[in-house]
Amino acid sequence: MTKNIKELIEKMTLEEKASLCSGLNFWQLKGIDSLAISSIMVADGPHGLRKQEQSADHLGIYDSVPATCFPSAAGMGSTWNRSLIEKVGMSLGEECQAENVEVLLGPGVNVKRSPLCGRNFEYFSEDPYLTSEIAVNYIKGVQSQGVGTSLKHFAANNQETRRSSVDTIVDERTLREIYLASFESVVKKAQPWTVMCSYNKVNGEYASENNTLLTDILRDEWGFEGFVVSDWGAVNERVDGLAAGLELEMPSNDGRGDKKIIEAIQNGTLSETILDRAVERLLKIIFMAVENKKENATYDLDAHHQLAREVARESMVLLKNSDRILPLKKDRIMAVIGEFAKNPRYQGGGSSHVNPTKLESIFEEIEKTAPNGTVLYAQGYELKSDKIDENLLNEAKEAAIQADVAILFVGLPDKYESEGYDRQHLHIPDNHRALIEAVAEVQPNVVVVLSNGAPVEMPWLGRVKGLLEGYLGGQALGGAIADLLFGVVSPSGKLAETFPKELRHNPSYLNFPGEGDKVEYKEGIFIGYRYYDAKAIEPLFPFGFGLSYTSFDYSNLSINKGEIADNETVEVTVTVKNTGDLPGKEIVQLYVRDIECTVIRPEKELKGFEKIELQPGEEKDVTFILNKRAFAYYNVNLQDWHVESGLFEILVGKSSAEILLKGSIQVNSTVTIKLPVHRNTTLGDLLSNPILAPKVQEVLAKLNEGSPFSKISEDSDGYEMFQAIKKFIPLRGLAAINPKLTEDILNNLIKQLNEAQEIELDLHDVQK
Ligand code: BGC
Repeated sequence: MTKNIKELIEKMTLEEKASLCSGLNFWQLKGIDSLAISSIMVADGPHGLRKQEQSADHLGIYDSVPATCFPSAAGMGSTWNRSLIEKVGMSLGEECQAENVEVLLGPGVNVKRSPLCGRNFEYFSEDPYLTSEIAVNYIKGVQSQGVGTSLKHFAANNQETRRSSVDTIVDERTLREIYLASFESVVKKAQPWTVMCSYNKVNGEYASENNTLLTDILRDEWGFEGFVVSDWGAVNERVDGLAAGLELEMPSNDGRGDKKIIEAIQNGTLSETILDRAVERLLKIIFMAVENKKENATYDLDAHHQLAREVARESMVLLKNSDRILPLKKDRIMAVIGEFAKNPRYQGGGSSHVNPTKLESIFEEIEKTAPNGTVLYAQGYELKSDKIDENLLNEAKEAAIQADVAILFVGLPDKYESEGYDRQHLHIPDNHRALIEAVAEVQPNVVVVLSNGAPVEMPWLGRVKGLLEGYLGGQALGGAIADLLFGVVSPSGKLAETFPKELRHNPSYLNFPGEGDKVEYKEGIFIGYRYYDAKAIEPLFPFGFGLSYTSFDYSNLSINKGEIADNETVEVTVTVKNTGDLPGKEIVQLYVRDIECTVIRPEKELKGFEKIELQPGEEKDVTFILNKRAFAYYNVNLQDWHVESGLFEILVGKSSAEILLKGSIQVNSTVTIKLPVHRNTTLGDLLSNPILAPKVQEVLAKLNEGSPFSKISEDSDGYEMFQAIKKFIPLRGLAAINPKLTEDILNNLIKQLNEAQEIELDLHDVQK
């Protein structure tokens, strides 16, 4: 294939080659009939297929063909269920095959920096590891059907405000550990056919023409083999983009970009080999899509709907269950209150908007699931307005008074969150809040079910007994909610993001959405639970939290080695037992903490998780395998991931805030870090370097001979001050107070210390 593509490119004219580098229209790539190059089609994504046939737009305005609407990514992330998400991917792939779509534009793996980001419903988590594990399985699923994906939006695109031009200023370590990490392992493990570059700038340069991102990191470091496509309209300078590694411009712009490419090659400012390279990458994927095309493919609508229900059940998170109000008994009088019960909010707005094959009413599904109960209904509020309507509140109270339990369906209406703009606050509408308060006045048994794509503040939480976070549950949310409320299945989702008590507790609060055309990620690596942990700020609900109708016991933490080198792996096993009366699924989480670090690190970071199913009384061993990345941070001097030798704690628990078992392991670095020695290197740094310390001690002993400092002992007054000053004194400072350390001796010493490290490093390399 590669050879053929190269031969084909040799036969192509400059114009033909340039023509392939932009779209034919909104959703199709160009083909060239005479060369048997087909025109393939792409479509959104991510939680359902949005294929438009007539009028086209990328904002979800015009309609699309019916397709299964799965829960949006915020919900998929909270399933923590790799194999389930792979099945979602497979179904999406089947629907693409049936609709002749060759590449699905998703998933989005931008990490949730602020709960205000309007598109958070389309992203999985605040944690890069969880995000990438879910995305890997999604992509494996879609691509197993011979359909490509587009991993988006690369990179550091974490807000909608000024999304087309905002300059994200982010330090290198944060970029690597948080914002690129969610893409990195996805590229390495799942090889998406395409990557979509984002609209924004990253540290001063548009992502669409950022050579460091698109070529040095994505291709050279991570080994990406597909092509890069621009987000719709994200190209700034087409020629710069092509040179940086942006192969495809979307959508079509009437050939303006192609013309610029041709001119640049003709006037010598762009080498034709760069264009050839881009065409080769495009053709490889185009031919792969054509080879994998399944003629007359169909899919089973009902089976996909059922899968959407299963995913919705696992995506919803039980956040409160006082007095075990849930699961509900089916034969009671129930007041179902809130317009969402009949007119559900089940997906987000913008380019991901799907036209569902069916849509379940929550109210009807509750009636179906509890046929012997009495189900009353009150609208409670109007979806079109935020205004409190006293009549509707009174009706709701009436219904609640008559019932044994009131189930309130509230949350965020469409206009509260969408692609294109960010939220301004974390409140639910006034009329939803007033409804909760009014009903709680007359009915002690209140259960709230939220429909929303991202966290909300809950000043009313104390007034309700039950709280189910429903996220945006997709077209089968009704059945899923009924299943969970009545205990047909036990809730098994856990939060993939922290819910703060107040917006201002969020680490990005002071720097979101930025100032002018810049946003600075001043909180660095401390986003989400990394921040709340470090500052001991108690969130409303922590990352990883979620209740079940059954209970789980954790025991027998075993770590199969006490000490490893950073290029080895270690196995951690725990036993988890279902100690309740109902079957259930538990998400077992493993976090790693660097106890002895000298660099600034979070209290703990998620490095493993498993979702397991257990019958009452059943127990299972859960095993995690940890490699270097579980212990490493990104060292900007080394330009690589690095483990600082020392003790690490292994923490296993039910959430980031509920660690049940702890163990530790010594991890030793196999990398010797060179300390560049110069006049301003401090004594402390020299003495903590294992290669240099003996030599420096020897020199100090000589300098000390006969000096008053030599008499200072632990009992002397000012000993602590002396030690501190000694630690932070630079070599030139030592020379200034010690005439024996002449300039010549000092320079010679610096030379020797640098050479000693070179020799050691060479030896190390030879041994390796
Ligand atoms: C969005 C992408 C989407 C594209 C095509 C853009 O506005 O940012 O996520 O895939 O439109 O609809």
